[in-house]
Formats: sequence, structure tokens, C-alpha cells
Amino acid sequence: TDLTHIRNFSIVAHIDHGKSTLADRLIQLTGTVAERDMQEQILDSMDIERERGITIKANSVRIEYPAKDGRTYILNLIDTPGHVDFAYEVSRSMRAVEGSLLVVDATQGVEAQTLANVYTAIEANHEIVPVLNKIDLPAAEPERIAEQIEDVIGIDASDACLISAKTGIGIPDVLEAIVKRLPAPTGDRDAPLKAMLVDSWYDAYLGVVVMIRVMDGVIKKGDNILMMQTGAKYGVDKLAVLRPKMQDIAELGPGEIGILTASIKQVRDTRVGDTITHQKKPCEKPLPGFKPSQPVVFCGLFPVDNAEFEDLRTAIEKLALNDASFTYEMETSAALGFGFRCGFLGLLHLEVIRDRIEREYDIELITTAPSVIYQIHMRDGRQIELHNPADMPDPAEIDHIDEPRIKATIMVPDEYLGDVLKLCQERRGIQQDLTYAGSRAMVVYDLPLNEVVFDFYDRLKSISKGYASFDYQLAGYRTDNLVKMSVLVNEEPVDALSMMVHRDRAEMRGRAMCEKLKELIPRHMFKIPIQAAIGGRVIARETLSAMRKDVTAKCYGGDATRKKKLLEKQKAGKKKMRQFGKVDIPQEAFINALKMD
Ligand code: GDP
Ligand code: MG
Repeated sequence: TDLTHIRNFSIVAHIDHGKSTLADRLIQLTGTVAERDMQEQILDSMDIERERGITIKANSVRIEYPAKDGRTYILNLIDTPGHVDFAYEVSRSMRAVEGSLLVVDATQGVEAQTLANVYTAIEANHEIVPVLNKIDLPAAEPERIAEQIEDVIGIDASDACLISAKTGIGIPDVLEAIVKRLPAPTGDRDAPLKAMLVDSWYDAYLGVVVMIRVMDGVIKKGDNILMMQTGAKYGVDKLAVLRPKMQDIAELGPGEIGILTASIKQVRDTRVGDTITHQKKPCEKPLPGFKPSQPVVFCGLFPVDNAEFEDLRTAIEKLALNDASFTYEMETSAALGFGFRCGFLGLLHLEVIRDRIEREYDIELITTAPSVIYQIHMRDGRQIELHNPADMPDPAEIDHIDEPRIKATIMVPDEYLGDVLKLCQERRGIQQDLTYAGSRAMVVYDLPLNEVVFDFYDRLKSISKGYASFDYQLAGYRTDNLVKMSVLVNEEPVDALSMMVHRDRAEMRGRAMCEKLKELIPRHMFKIPIQAAIGGRVIARETLSAMRKDVTAKCYGGDATRKKKLLEKQKAGKKKMRQFGKVDIPQEAFINALKMD
């Protein structure tokens, strides 16, 4: 069969270099969307994605393009998530296409995510078309940036497309380059069905929607399919392509990308990277390289207002339906009451879920310190997986503790290398490699994941002015000297603030935490000791002195409306406070106390 009229591609770019704007222009110029339905950043559907400029879920659009050679081509664009938390999803969706447009801002040049993403594309054997964007700006230096792409990335940029996604200059050249320079997919129409599950999400009307890329064979509406890794069986209810609105289609053949629905109950019944085949005539082997994404970062989510616990449960259950990599179980905390212990792919994933609960469900949350999974080896031979420092067994019964490590690859301009090495060293990193690509250094570090989940990425970005790129893989477990540090406010342990730390770093962390809390907790009528402790031993201490004068006193007996106003204000303020013994701790204190800088 003839696949020569299909081109599948993705766009890789550093944030703000113009990926979404270019996608808009491609959709618009080909008349895929009627002019009246066109809106900016049409592929970024979720608000949070728009605001943060990140794509969480893969998105796709099918474009029909009448090329200069007289043939009409079908172009499938898959827009991929661009963050390291979703590295596995990115690498999967890259494997669903044959080529990439590498968009680089001609006023900025190659930056952090450009590298991380282009290497994923190269790993997926993509043909790559460099596109230099924003040439409408006076500061654009396309020649210099083309050279930089060749130096740093090592791909030919001599025939890069020069465009302005904003004004539309050069967009026709991009369409021609897609057709001429990217390869057509290959696949056997007569072979048994073999399709990749690229992504899945929950749609309010359709239920679970699955994005697929057909490798071999043909899938039709009504087909009985099998997900090879999970063993789940379904009948295909709906088959469609995204333009970017859904448009039903009778079948999808090799090289094609589309979506299906099949009365799948929840997103967690689908696994990104799984192979879909026919129940009757399955393909011999599933696609290689499948691994289910596992949460690696855990934290507690508690409602500020305990009365909202049931609402929180509903929100979490709904979000979990739509996100197979998000896990949760109920948790109770002496300090915070009822909540949930949740698992995430990384810190951004955590933030996104937290934001959505607060915004879409209007529930104010307290988030406890993020933790990784520790393997605790007990003296009696038992092995415990610790997701929550609060569950830490008696240290006297512990033989040793193993913690997860990562292999981190960091690319950074030479001038920031010193600071990056210092940061990695501080975070207990072990340097494994240091090489240069042009004026950029590439360092490989073996780091404890627990030192990375806090704010490593933010720190890295700030010390490198945003130029460092960071990517990591989990790299097994290693024994180390880990302890549980507790925080006591007015002699009461605040379980939500306890964390696992390396013994050598405990004092430093404890001191920082106490100092911070001293700033964050408002003064009370009495003196409040703030302490960090390991077991029964205090390792750091601060004292919050008592309030000098009683600010409410002067209101009493005076103006009644003023008094009422003050009480109302206090009530509103109370909502955001949690009580610990006699002490009120504002919600921000938890979040801010857990940030390190
Ligand atoms: P993304 O993060 O890669 O998706 O980048 P966007 O497409 O959201 O673009 C980031 C910003 O750059 C937006 O404010 C765009 O309007 C602007 N932008 C994109 N392309 C161009 C261009 O060709 N010229 C100029 N001047 N601005 C552009
Ligand atoms: Mg974008």
C-alpha cells in the first residue's frame, strides 16, 4: 500500500521559542480549522498548560496539505510534553512519529530544553528539520544561530527554514520541508494489527480516549482489540482523527495516527507505550521498550478546612481517573487530620495536580514535604517500602536504609559550570563524566533522588540563568546514612514537617527549617520554641519571642463595628491557619518551610 503521502512529525523547542505559534500557523495556513474557529495556541487546551506554557498530555492534529508536487499529503503533528517529569511519555510519543521540526528562537539560540528534547528526537531516529523562528525581530541572528545548532547539536543547519511564526513568513517553506525532507512512515497493511498507545485521557462526554499510532495492519470501528501489556480486551466504539476537533473515520492503517474509544472505564486501565492488537489475530511481539510509569515522589495533600475532606476525595478520584501515573491512598496526620498520601512522576506533576485541585475544585490544600521511596531493611530481615517519613519504624530495629539514586545529565554553558558542580556536590552527587560540546559542558552525576525532588531543578535554572538543561533516569538504590528529622513547634511534633535526610545534612537542614519557621509563624502571646530533632536529640533550635502588646486590646470597649470587622478579619485569617497545640501556623508556612534556598 501507499504510505508515501503521510508525514508524521513533532515540534521540539525550548519554552517560548514558538512551538505553539508555529502549530497555529500550520493549522491555519492549511485551512484545517475554519477561520472563525481559530484561536491562539489551539493545541494547548488546558488552562494550566496555557499559563505555564507546558503541555502535559500529548496532543495531535491531522493536517491535509496540497504540496507543490501536486499531491495532497496527510501531516500528523504530535505535540509532546516538554518536561523531564514526563520524559517517558515524551520518548513514547517521539517513537510514534518519524521526524521533528527543531524550532529555535533566532534571537536566543539553543537553550536548555532544546537540547533535552532534540536528543530524545535523535534517539528516536528522527529526521530533523531546523527551523529558525522570530526572524521578524531586529535582534534575530539566523546565521549565527544556525552555526550554533551545528556546533552544539551536531546536525546540519545550512538549509534551516527561516520563519516568523507570528507574521507567517516562511510557513509555506516549512510545509514543503515536512513533505520533502521528512521520511514517510513504513508498515504492512496485511500484517496483524500492531498499534502504539501514545497517550490517553478522560473526556467528559466520551470517557477514556486513547491516542494510537498504527504500525502494521488496520484497525476498524467494532474491532475486538487486546492491550498486550495489561491483557485488557475491548471493542472499538469510535475511531476518529483530530483536526484538532474529532472527526470520525472508518479505519486507521499503517502510519496513521488517531484516537479510539472502547468503553474503557478509567485512564489507569491504559498504559502509555502499550501495544494494541486484534484479539483474534494478534501480532507476534509487542513493541519494544515498554515500561509503565511509576510514581517516584510522594507527599501528603490535606484540606486546610477539614470539612472539605470529602470534596478532596472526590477531586482526587476524578483526577486519578484521568492520570494513570498519579496514585493516592488515605492518610491521617495528628497535625493535619484526614488527607491523602499521593504519588507523582516528579515535582511538576505534583504541582500540576495540586493546582488543579485548588483551582478546579476550589479546595485549599496543605502539601507536606515531598519524599521518595526508601527501602528499609529491618534487623529481623523484613524489608519495608517507606513512602512517608511518618511511618518510619523505630531506628533501633533498622539494620540499614537504601535510597533511590538517579543518573542526571546536565548541559550547561561553560561560564556556569562551576556553580553547577558546586550544587551537585552539595546535593551529595558523585561526578561520573564531564565532556564538552562546543562551549557547553555536559556533566553526568549520580545523585540521590531525595536531594533532587525538593528544588534542584529550580536552583539549577536560577544559577545558570535558565541555560542548563537537565534530564535524569532512575539508577537503582544505594545504602546511605539516612535519618528521620522531626520538627517540634512549642514542644509538639508537627508530623507534616518531618522528613528523611542524610545525617551529614541533617543539622544544616534542621537549622534552616527552624530559622524559616521562626519567620513564617506569627508571634503569639507567649514564647514559642521551634526545634528540629533526630530521635529524641535536638539538633537545631530557634525561639519565637512573645508579642509585645495586645493589638486587640485597644479595640475593646470602643467602636462596635470596628470590633466586628476585626473579628471577621480574624475569622477569615483563621481559615488559612492550622492549630498545633496552642500555636496557629499559617498554611504558607508549610509550603515555604519546605522550600530550600
Ligand atoms: P512555545 O512556548 O514554544 O509554545 O512558544 P509560543 O508559541 O507560546 O510563543 C512564545 C511567545 O513568542 C509568544 O508571545 C509568541 O507570540 C511569541 N512569538 C512566537 N513566534 C514569534 C515570531 O515569529 N516573532 C515574534 N516576534 N514573536 C513570536
Ligand atoms: Mg506552547
